[in-house]
Amino acid sequence: MEEEITEIEEKAMLEMAETGEEEKESEGTKVSAHSEESQTPEEDIFVLPGDFVSTTEEFASGPGTYLSGGEIYSTSTGIVSVNRKQRVVSVIPTTSTPPIVKEGDIVVGEIINVRESMALVELAAIKGAGNREMQKSGTAAIHVSNVKNAYVKDISKEFALFDIVKARVINTQNMRLTTSDDSLGVMKAICSNCKAVLVIENNKLKCPSCGRKESRKISSDYGTGLV
Ligand SMILES: [Zn+2]
Repeated sequence: MEEEITEIEEKAMLEMAETGEEEKESEGTKVSAHSEESQTPEEDIFVLPGDFVSTTEEFASGPGTYLSGGEIYSTSTGIVSVNRKQRVVSVIPTTSTPPIVKEGDIVVGEIINVRESMALVELAAIKGAGNREMQKSGTAAIHVSNVKNAYVKDISKEFALFDIVKARVINTQNMRLTTSDDSLGVMKAICSNCKAVLVIENNKLKCPSCGRKESRKISSDYGTGLV
């Protein structure tokens, strides 16, 4: 039953998004400087439950979101969808449908285990032709040789538990991923000391809460949420 509702909501939202595109030029939006494109950055942002989505000044809270203190947050793991015509922001949740992951796909997931030679990733979303293709799709591995274009001696200096990573699928038989590209790697790093989200300061990751400095193989999209 829950899945049915999700599918119906998803379809309705996609339709809303499509009709919204036709007239988006009629009113100026202060949200994006490049709203000419059909896919604005806001609509590709990957969020987790509790993540900030928008302010109520800009949008109304749609499906998959909730209000708190004048701000809109995500209730689920998914992708932000913006209806500019109705000024509604929603989160299209990932579904539990079995995966159809292909080699070359860009995936997003959470680091659930860091071993000597590899990091394990719980996949949360696949970047596909449309939001319909997002799925929960099990576990994949990043081998130490596929972390980056340089020799990695200690993989625990590249990934840590609860980090959100963006990676490319290189083998679907044993679900191997690579982060060996500037745009790939950690999108959101979690302080191993206090669990706060690390911020980039002078090209280094620093905890805004406890001041701890950590290293990661970060994506050039770090902190943006862009898939
Ligand atoms: Zn900290």
